[in-house]
Amino acid sequence: MRVFKFGGASVKDADAVRNIYRILSGLPEKEELVIVVSAMGKTTNALEAIYRKAHQKEDFAPALQACRFYHEDIAQLLFPEAGSPVYADIAQQFQELEQTLATLQPDHWDQQYDQVISRGELLSSLILHHFLQSQGISNFWLDCRTCLRTDSTWREGRVDWTFTESQIQATLPAILQKQIIVTQGFIGGTEDGFTTTLGREGSDYSAAIFAFCLNASSLTIWKDVPGLLNADPKLFKEVTRYEEVAYQEAIEMAYYGASVIHPKTIQPLANKCIPLFVKSFLQPELPGTVIHDCQHARIAPSFILKQNQCLLSFTAKDLGFISEQHLSAIFQAVHEGRLKINMMQNSALSFSVCCDYDEDRVQQIKKKLEDQFIIKYNQPLHLFTIKNYDQESIQRLTQDREILMEQRTRLTFQFVCRPSETLAG
Ligand code: ASP
Ligand code: MG
Repeated sequence: MRVFKFGGASVKDADAVRNIYRILSGLPEKEELVIVVSAMGKTTNALEAIYRKAHQKEDFAPALQACRFYHEDIAQLLFPEAGSPVYADIAQQFQELEQTLATLQPDHWDQQYDQVISRGELLSSLILHHFLQSQGISNFWLDCRTCLRTDSTWREGRVDWTFTESQIQATLPAILQKQIIVTQGFIGGTEDGFTTTLGREGSDYSAAIFAFCLNASSLTIWKDVPGLLNADPKLFKEVTRYEEVAYQEAIEMAYYGASVIHPKTIQPLANKCIPLFVKSFLQPELPGTVIHDCQHARIAPSFILKQNQCLLSFTAKDLGFISEQHLSAIFQAVHEGRLKINMMQNSALSFSVCCDYDEDRVQQIKKKLEDQFIIKYNQPLHLFTIKNYDQESIQRLTQDREILMEQRTRLTFQFVCRPSETLAG
């Protein structure tokens, strides 16, 4: 059996949904398949904006209306006949969403975030389910919250592998003998019935969880790019596609922020040697990239950009040297504040970390440490990583940039700088 993951761009409008049908209709009749789908287009961002507004007691009604119209318009193009069951499902999702938004409590920001933001995947999977059904592809809509169990680390649920694996194995194979399954990426459920999310862009990870638990023969991630590229074509002028990449290499690229795969995706696949294909949904006949257990020569340098970074620096108030004790206090606070460190460096009198920027979390850390340290931070910044760098690639990327911090290992060159007009070197 196989797992397919379709991202937001592959369901962004009615034509995109029809394209998924086209891809599926080319498959052998008896193929056992689980389809994991992201929210449509930029829905997750839209829901985040709605949630933020609701939380701040601003008027969120127009944004919610726009989100609803977006989904209903797609449905109307896909289901011109009145009375399709899809309309009742969409209405119910928005009714439940409105109810959540109307009863927000001030102290449960992260928990309520998950209850709101998860609606995007529920909506997209319902629309895809009904559309495939209407086209004669019989399929089972699975509410993945019943089997993909996480703890209650809101916005970044940690998977309960034991429960999840046994639940998936106990229920899905029987369904798969008769029908393909359509389910949601990005979301899971807790023991007591709350919805969790797995971290932004987490649908790839969901797909890998299903592939792992079902011992799938492969996972295919369908993207709007022709495979795993050495740079994001939206940001860099010249890009090349890798044909074959070892798991280890792909894990590292994802870790440094290559946006093509969510960082947690590869590990479950590597543990069971399940190959991951990255393919273009626009040109499904092209080979794409295979990430699997293999050995290859050093591959072309890859250029990875993480945006929205901040550089935090801590200087002890007594101007003493940065000691292990200081470091321990800093790490403790960063850990509790759940900031993600992407690069760090210490000097005699200060310690600097480059993190994904989140104002609330930075303030929380400042509050905790400001008795002990002078804390400065700088944002928004860019963190660039060149994996498998050479002199030319460094030259190309660092040209004309003011570098605030840099680091180099045998295979990796990283630097933090201010955003500039030209991203591509
Ligand atoms: N829809 C979610 C997001 O945009 C998850 C995903 O697309 O992978 O973050
Ligand atoms: Mg996405």
